[in-house]
Amino acid sequence: MSDCLIIGGGVIGMMSARALVLSGVKVTLLDQGVCGQESSWAGGGIISPLYPWKYDDLTNELSLASQAVYEQLCAQILEDTGLDPEYLKSGLLMMDEYDSNVASAWLMRYGLDYQTHEKGGLFTNIAQVRNPRLIKALKADILSKGVKIVENTQVESLLLSHDKVRGVNTSQQAYLSDHVVVCSGAWSSQWLDLKEEIFPMKGQMIVLKSKPGVVEHIMLDQGRYIIPRQDGRILVGSTMQNVGFDRTTDPQTQQSLQTFAVQRFPDLKRAVIEHHWSGFRPASKSGKVMLGRHAEFDNVYLNTGHFRNGLNMAPESAKRITQLITHET
Ligand SMILES: Cc1cc2nc3c(=O)[nH]c(=O)nc-3n(C[C@H](O)[C@H](O)[C@H](O)COP(=O)(O)OP(=O)(O)OC[C@H]3O[C@@H](n4cnc5c(N)ncnc54)[C@H](O)[C@@H]3O)c2cc1C
Repeated sequence: MSDCLIIGGGVIGMMSARALVLSGVKVTLLDQGVCGQESSWAGGGIISPLYPWKYDDLTNELSLASQAVYEQLCAQILEDTGLDPEYLKSGLLMMDEYDSNVASAWLMRYGLDYQTHEKGGLFTNIAQVRNPRLIKALKADILSKGVKIVENTQVESLLLSHDKVRGVNTSQQAYLSDHVVVCSGAWSSQWLDLKEEIFPMKGQMIVLKSKPGVVEHIMLDQGRYIIPRQDGRILVGSTMQNVGFDRTTDPQTQQSLQTFAVQRFPDLKRAVIEHHWSGFRPASKSGKVMLGRHAEFDNVYLNTGHFRNGLNMAPESAKRITQLITHET
């Protein structure tokens, strides 16, 4: 019998597994596919909400607390695994919406500021991670710390006996556990009744092959962004499409993302598009994260609905779920 079952091996599930195992909890993590191949792979890795003043207090609390520990966390993961999540404080250059009254009030409230830049406001503290590397490193890290990972196993329902949750039923077998943590991203409402529905919000991105130095900072304008990786690759994103679990990418979007990048950085005109992909953000109707105990079952916990901010909110979300569980055990 395992102390805790985590359902879903994206950044939220694996970060939760890490925090729990470090607190002495025995953890088994189940994924219907292979860990870290969904939204957490597809995202851009910006460690901040795009326009933070548009979000609720909980999102900002989780995000700011996570930002405070991210650099150290990535350094620890690198030390423990030899795999580098490529945390980089590249700063974010916002070309729009940074000098509105709402933005100013928000910045004052959190004691934050920006530098004036010829093209907009430069938020020097904003960092990025190379999320496909972060999740690869996280997987190696939690395995080495004793988390049992079971892949290609789809959780179908909670396993109930005398109105109490005893574990989960899966496509393979039943798994018993004292606690169940739901980290199944955009699929969370597919197998579990939640107070509020979680649904997929598709986002398409492209990556251009360029040289280091062509783009210095993350750049944000009119909801779209450009992220320069250390090796010169440039990510350009993204779309917001409420179309269900449809993974297709289309040439019009590819063209419009490329045009967006070239208009801002003409040197990218000859940069080759290496890849074009889509991913499913876990969205909720209210736009809020679902973090805490299930309304009906006191040993089922929700850590889902992180929408556009799961990579940046993962460390603090994992910490809070761990506190909730370990204060009982
Ligand atoms: C284009 C795009 C750009 C983004 N950019 C950023 C960004 O710059 N910064 C940021 O912070 N966030 C960003 N995001 C959002 C971020 O990627 C997500 O919020 C985050 O990855 C959610 O993590 P997760 O672990 O909840 O979901 P996922 O990574 O999707 O993981 C969920 C896992 O659960 C598994 N699962 C589902 N159902 C079951 C089941 N029944 N049984 C077993 N396993 C199951 C899945 O196989 C999957 O591995 C972006 C997202 C997209 C799509």
